[in-house]
Amino acid sequence: MLSLDNSVDASLDLGSRSDVQTCTDWKAPIIWDGMFDPDLYDKTHQSEGSSVALTVFAVGRYLDAYLLTFLNSSEHHFMLGLPVTYYVFTDTPEKVPDIKLGPQRSIKVIKVKRHSRWQDVSMMRMKTIADAIESDIRHHCTHVFCFDVDQVFTGRFGSEALGDSVALLHAHYYHLPERLFTYDRNPKSKAYMESGDFYYHAAVFGGSWNSVKALTESCYQSIMEDKENDVEALWHDESHLNKYMWLQKPSRVLSPEYCWDTSIGDRNDIRVTRLLWATKHYDTLRTD
Ligand code: UDP
Ligand code: MN
Repeated sequence: MLSLDNSVDASLDLGSRSDVQTCTDWKAPIIWDGMFDPDLYDKTHQSEGSSVALTVFAVGRYLDAYLLTFLNSSEHHFMLGLPVTYYVFTDTPEKVPDIKLGPQRSIKVIKVKRHSRWQDVSMMRMKTIADAIESDIRHHCTHVFCFDVDQVFTGRFGSEALGDSVALLHAHYYHLPERLFTYDRNPKSKAYMESGDFYYHAAVFGGSWNSVKALTESCYQSIMEDKENDVEALWHDESHLNKYMWLQKPSRVLSPEYCWDTSIGDRNDIRVTRLLWATKHYDTLRTD
């Protein structure tokens, strides 16, 4: 599969930002506002025939709390100009709101079982995504982006975010030194790591369908091995994602513009917010 990472990037670059890190040690671009020409990215991806699957889970109370706002905001900001298929995974398909979709955009609702522990709902997404890519997504879409539902799009989240393997810098950690990253530090877990490159946020990850399939399958296997050994990684699927992305470096990294938490306050380097954390009501969401 053709990817826009590295080779074509140079020609799509507008310039650079001197106030932030725009490239990783392994030469993957870190995408910040002002670094790219959005129209050129869109045209290039359109001519290459890129199409995007967006996966999102709305299980239990998360459906009523977040799904409508997530989907409506996505219709205004996510990959406009490219074909997009939403894959909504829920235990209550009948409750998925009927929203008006733009041209070349469609929605597939897939029923999933509700795990009783929220940690399992979150972790088992890896298996469900891998299965959906194998049975459906790979026949229809070139790329896959996986999102938490408790978020709202507020600005362009466009084709500049597409790449072979895409990870997101966690808004709470991108300014912090590595020793403060909350990697899993338990040697008994498959997610254990002593050092790493960045602390990535599992609320957003993506890539070509085959890269995302490899990632989700690998994380699921590690999660299941941990279960057999009676351990659970500190931050569940996020710990496993961080371990995977350390061993298999992402080809593209998104700045925290792509998933910002307004409670952090204003930062000079955040010139635009593209996706925001929604308010979390864990007290009511995570009880039965
Ligand atoms: N989720 C869900 N129902 C649940 C728990 C989780 O649908 O009972 C999904 C939902 O998409 C959610 C994601 O799993 O956004 C991750 O969980 P959460 O957002 O609570 O994790 P956090 O953002 O706190 O890491
Ligand atoms: Mn979340």
